[in-house]
Amino acid sequence: MVPANIRIVLVRPTHPGNVGATARAMKNMALRSLYLIEPEKFPSPEATDRAAGADDVLQGAVICASLDEALKDCHLVIGTSARSRRIEWPTLDPAAGARRLVEGARNGPVALLFGQERTGLLNSELDRCHFVVTIPADEAYSSLNLASAVQILAYEIYREALAGAAVSPTEVREGRLASSDDMQRFYQHLEEVLQEIEFLNPDKPRYLMRRLMRLFNRASLDDNEMNILRGILNAIQQGRHKN
Ligand code: SAH
Repeated sequence: MVPANIRIVLVRPTHPGNVGATARAMKNMALRSLYLIEPEKFPSPEATDRAAGADDVLQGAVICASLDEALKDCHLVIGTSARSRRIEWPTLDPAAGARRLVEGARNGPVALLFGQERTGLLNSELDRCHFVVTIPADEAYSSLNLASAVQILAYEIYREALAGAAVSPTEVREGRLASSDDMQRFYQHLEEVLQEIEFLNPDKPRYLMRRLMRLFNRASLDDNEMNILRGILNAIQQGRHKN
């Protein structure tokens, strides 16, 4: 069974045809949860046309005004990108990314993000991702059509879900895992404290926050661990305010 709580999130898609083809790619692979962030034209006859028999997935699409809204309650976020960047995000191949999503879906909603056709995912959007999946392709021309990229990842998720059904569940955590919104609040608090103690100079941030986000994202914090870290940050602030 393909878990129902794997969200496919398209960030600001510009071509309605890609949105329709995404719905079709998803339905073929038993995925149903489509989130669209500020689609340029939606609904649109072209999208419905390209969805073919998957217009139910299209009609069920959740339209969001921001990434925060689309990632609400998700404890695992995986981005997709053709490009390698200066500060590398932890990168997985499609099968490994699909495995993380299928396993993660046992503990609550998870999201797979796709970028806009022209720009791809922005760095600020990749900062929200625990991992980035790159589909191997010719270096000279490595950027796939958006819906084609969705198809490949949806297929890997499907394969992984079928294979995973045969084996016993791996890690099922006791506590609730911190959601993407909890993590955002924690990062804001951490940044505030690091500035207060002058560890972080806002004029010369040197990727510090990005590196720390990568570190904490890797840890998959649960609610208790998050409370401890927030408690430490509060104690630092209270200590400073006493002086
Ligand atoms: N010029 C953009 C291309 C965006 S293509 C860029 O360099 O990022 C639109 C989206 O399709 C991407 O944001 C990503 O989500 C997906 N995509 C395209 N090619 C991909 C690849 N080789 N691996 C993973 N995702 C890819």
